[in-house]
Amino acid sequence: MPASPVKEIDTGVRKLVTDMIETMYAAPGVGLAAPQIGVSRAVIVFDAQDEKGARVLINPELVESDGDYEYEEGCLSVPGHYWPITRPGYVRARGLNVEGETVEYFGEGLLGRVLQHEIDHLRGILLIERLEKKVRKQALKTLREEALGLEA
Ligand code: ZN
Repeated sequence: MPASPVKEIDTGVRKLVTDMIETMYAAPGVGLAAPQIGVSRAVIVFDAQDEKGARVLINPELVESDGDYEYEEGCLSVPGHYWPITRPGYVRARGLNVEGETVEYFGEGLLGRVLQHEIDHLRGILLIERLEKKVRKQALKTLREEALGLEA
């Protein structure tokens, strides 16, 4: 289910952003989308491990993407798993910051990856759905076995 856009950046939204950043670092992870902590709102936070630290995008959208880049990608919602996923290597994402100003981030490498991954969460798309058919089948089998306690 897609997350609802934020209409007004009030104290509730600012509190949500603070909670998300704490949760992301505690995980630890490089990105988090609000639906991952049970809040169906279009908010993402990320830290691409650069000098910029934690950043936030409210109502983010991808406005440009280009290239192909394969990477072993994981997700805090399925801890401990990494699968090779091909996505565009370069993206431009636009959204609002906590002050309500429009901001744009150009992402290559890890930043581009995190932006696409977290925006997927807002659209209700999980990592598994990005896998190639064969890899997806195996991944689903592994996750099913884990859920049944067949594999530690
Ligand atoms: Zn994820």
